[in-house]
Amino acid sequence: MKYVQVFVISLVLIFSACNSSKTDTLPEKVLGKLKVGFDIDDTVLFSRDNFLVAPHMSDDPDHLDYAWVNTHDSLHSVLIQPVADLIGFFKSHGHEVYFITARPGINGATLARHLSRELGFKVEKNIDLFFSPKRKDPKTGVKYTTKHEVIAQLGLHIFYGDADNDMVAACVAGVRGVRIVRDPRSVESYSSNYFGDTRSESGPDKPYKEADYQRFLTQGVGPYGETIFPIYQLSPNPSELSVPEK
Ligand SMILES: [Mg+2]
Repeated sequence: MKYVQVFVISLVLIFSACNSSKTDTLPEKVLGKLKVGFDIDDTVLFSRDNFLVAPHMSDDPDHLDYAWVNTHDSLHSVLIQPVADLIGFFKSHGHEVYFITARPGINGATLARHLSRELGFKVEKNIDLFFSPKRKDPKTGVKYTTKHEVIAQLGLHIFYGDADNDMVAACVAGVRGVRIVRDPRSVESYSSNYFGDTRSESGPDKPYKEADYQRFLTQGVGPYGETIFPIYQLSPNPSELSVPEK
């Protein structure tokens, strides 16, 4: 009789083990949690004015004093509220939010504190804010984004950004890229690296004009196959886009 009891108990244990889901062994915090990344400039912050007034380190227009830039967002940059709301949506549902910028990291802790104040949660350099400047190919001299390396290391699922480089980084890292539409003032100031530069003379490397840009926005899909986050409403005058009222 005793052997029968042991046999029955063993059968029950084996049956229970076979029926338990494999996901039971995973840490609960992983289930359903997204890792979402955001670019900073013209994605989370409208920072055009910060860049326009920033001192230069040399005559090279790209050679900005980033030690100054990273400490002056509180004076010259404005939070892009629809994106802040989106970040709040992800955070409130328990998803992880990261920031990846092509700015150099000098004085980056100050930018982290500014984002903390603006977004209402703690942001820390090299914890959830990463500085990933472009690198130059020594053979061709071409500058290229390095954000894909951080996106891959973090294991992000989605990456939001305004620039063509952000979409390239998302593609190379193999994650979903979502395009944040640039403020029209930034489109005028920094047309390069945005939908192939719709403000320049057409050519094989710059095939899109204003009408093409409007078509991309209307259809909600960009040239890299990325989806477009509709921050700005189309206006009857296509050169003027406006942020929707809340
Ligand atoms: Mg940007």
